[in-house]
Amino acid sequence: MSDSENLAELLELVEADSHLALLLEDVFDENSILGRLLMVNRAQLFPSWDHPFFELKLIFWDNYRAKETTEKSVIDLEQRLRKIESKQSPVTSVVNFEQLMKDMRDLITYYFLKAVRANADLKDLVDIQDFNFLAVKRTVRDYESIVDTLRKIADELSDVKSIPDENVRKAIEKLKLGLMAEALGQILKSSSVLAYSTQALPLFGQAVKESLMRAQGLTGEEYTAAIDYMHMLGLFEGCQSIFWCENCRDIRQIYWSLSMIDPRHANMACLRCGKPMPAAIAYRPKESVIRCVDFKDGFLTVAIAHLLKKRNIQFQYSVKGTHERDFVCERKTERVLLECKMHRTDTSERGIQEALKKDIAQLTEHSKIPLEEGSTIVRAVLVCNYSPDIVQRLGEPILESANAKDAPPLSMVSYQDMQELLKELG
Ligand SMILES: [Zn+2]
Repeated sequence: MSDSENLAELLELVEADSHLALLLEDVFDENSILGRLLMVNRAQLFPSWDHPFFELKLIFWDNYRAKETTEKSVIDLEQRLRKIESKQSPVTSVVNFEQLMKDMRDLITYYFLKAVRANADLKDLVDIQDFNFLAVKRTVRDYESIVDTLRKIADELSDVKSIPDENVRKAIEKLKLGLMAEALGQILKSSSVLAYSTQALPLFGQAVKESLMRAQGLTGEEYTAAIDYMHMLGLFEGCQSIFWCENCRDIRQIYWSLSMIDPRHANMACLRCGKPMPAAIAYRPKESVIRCVDFKDGFLTVAIAHLLKKRNIQFQYSVKGTHERDFVCERKTERVLLECKMHRTDTSERGIQEALKKDIAQLTEHSKIPLEEGSTIVRAVLVCNYSPDIVQRLGEPILESANAKDAPPLSMVSYQDMQELLKELG
């Protein structure tokens, strides 16, 4: 399936879901809190830990402020006591299923061949001239002849550490971790099962939340408002929360819940002493939201495509030529090129400048290539996920110094100026 078909399919999904459609339109509003929360590189929203294959596709919220005192937090103590920070913590969870399946296939193939090689009868079967079903039945009889071989393999698998081949050992360990993560995913989906190891899951998100707020300049209140809005739009389908009392230090009061909670309603009082309890919540976005965030060319691309479609602006996506171009919009007889970039926003100014420099060079290159039927690009625009302030301060000077000889007029806009741009195109 080509990328443009993938996008078309995703757009249909968006159109069928008015809440999701609203989210994709809302992010373009001036200073939209949803835009500021979501217009980040996907690795910022869903970072991976320890291992590139593991990530939590969750959005976190908490109102927990670690006090700058020597006093030990109740929740920290509890975490230590329960060893939920052990290696099997949910931090290393939620899997890349393609990789999981690949590992599984590799292991099945490996052990299948190993079984054949270890068993003389089976080995003979591989070599016999007249290979057929009856020959196989005759050899394996009631599987008596291979039971021993299979048992040895089962023994080996039950004690992973004893496996001599390091690669096999690693593959099995990864698979086990993956299957555990799958179980965790199921737990988050279900409303009745509460597994001990996932109880502290919401707490792991505090660092992710803090880093998003820092990079996007969101205050605590704005962050809460953004989560609240997503909750209101029904864009979350799973939720796990933890509440604890910092006042009750002898008999610790800790409560877990899988009920859907609005961050604005997370002001629970301790059942023992009545003092307000801090809370941490992990929200699991709906599958369709995750698909938009996970889209190969980024969330911004999906949102722009939706906007173009809504405004009845004709466009071609991922136009194949010598180079791949994002969008070519048709305006009467003219063609305008739009390229979308979703960069990390938690980098230095230098990093941003480097990224924009590369983008402009690419935009220049792509804008010079003639389209089919001899038509050409009359204007090329780079749409990025940086704020208008950054585009103006760091982007404009790069644009001015770019060597854009023979290229059509080039410009650079923040996603927040998309509506303005569309007025010009429409
Ligand atoms: Zn209390």
